[in-house]
Amino acid sequence: MKTLEQELAKRRAGHLYRERLVLDSPQETEVRVGEESLLSFCSNDYLGLANHPEVVAAFRAGAERYGVGAGASHLVSGHSRAHHALEEELADFVGAERALLFSTGYMANLGVVSALTDRHDVIFEDRLNHASLIDAARLTRAKVSRYPHADAERLAEMLAKHQRPGLITTDAVFSMDGDMAPLADLFRLASRHGARLLADDAHGFGVLGKNGRGSFEHLEIPLASPAILMATLGKALGVFGAFVAGETALIETLIQRARTYIYTTALPPAVAEATRASLRLVRAEGWRREHLRELVEKFRGGAQSLGFSLAASTTPIQPLILGDAEKALEASRRLREHGILIPAIRPPTVPEGSARLRITFSAAHTATQVDRLLEALATVISG
Ligand code: PMP
Repeated sequence: MKTLEQELAKRRAGHLYRERLVLDSPQETEVRVGEESLLSFCSNDYLGLANHPEVVAAFRAGAERYGVGAGASHLVSGHSRAHHALEEELADFVGAERALLFSTGYMANLGVVSALTDRHDVIFEDRLNHASLIDAARLTRAKVSRYPHADAERLAEMLAKHQRPGLITTDAVFSMDGDMAPLADLFRLASRHGARLLADDAHGFGVLGKNGRGSFEHLEIPLASPAILMATLGKALGVFGAFVAGETALIETLIQRARTYIYTTALPPAVAEATRASLRLVRAEGWRREHLRELVEKFRGGAQSLGFSLAASTTPIQPLILGDAEKALEASRRLREHGILIPAIRPPTVPEGSARLRITFSAAHTATQVDRLLEALATVISG
């Protein structure tokens, strides 16, 4: 058996070693790493709310009112008025009967998939699903079947061969590519075959749709059974946590059966209070989504005139696929010399041979900052 040191050395030799940056500043477009000031294009703080004064003030007031720790799981004594109010506001916002808070998106996916399937079911998942959906399916005793990325036709053929298709799972906006799932087709297929559809809208919620309700609003699909929405609160909402939204019977089932809901401490209530403030901003300040869309368009126009091949994404996730891990690492290192922070994303997070710079935009960026990025990319990628 190889020692841990040998395994680590092999990773390093393959340019796959992962290291953490230590940030000395809040999550904003300009971050500080020690003495270095870097223009960041890698955060999921899409609306620029992670350090918004109203969100910070609500967090502080929440801690004054409720203290810090929730002290117990939701079902024991950790479910506070703050959590409850946030659930009601989220359900109202997305137009669902009920919503249920989870401590993270990872846990929400694990909870839903394990609560809704058993060993007689089949789970169908997009090949490029987020790790949390893949792990969720692995943890169940259901049979797991993967379909080619965003290929609803192939999925239809696969569904037709199974007696009990339990669940279809998909990222709504794919986390590493920024493209969207064919949700309308998946919704139709799930309805026709008596399956449920779990759509993970971690990257669409708050960002897409006129009102920021996410991918369903953007694609004009009603959020109704068999669809189940999972969205996270640590990205566009700028805070932490996640929720699942759907009909009452679904939410009550999750409360009874989702182990990652039942057996874990509730989020600090102050986190829920901060999220409520952030949701008010998402509702009130549509200009953030407008500005973000303009920045993405500006970037795509600029990158195209530089001759870069862009992904089929109109969301704030704009990957530049460079191929091998070493090349992506080198591009990231050189961008950092230009004062720009974009870590290289490498396998196994993305498929072999598709290492990339995952560029993300925030409503807090300015058009001038996008110009700076384009200038740096022009030097680093072609040079
Ligand atoms: N789903 C997707 C598509 C994600 O990108 C992420 C976070 N990277 C998650 C789920 C997990 O969410 P959280 O960070 O709240 O655990």
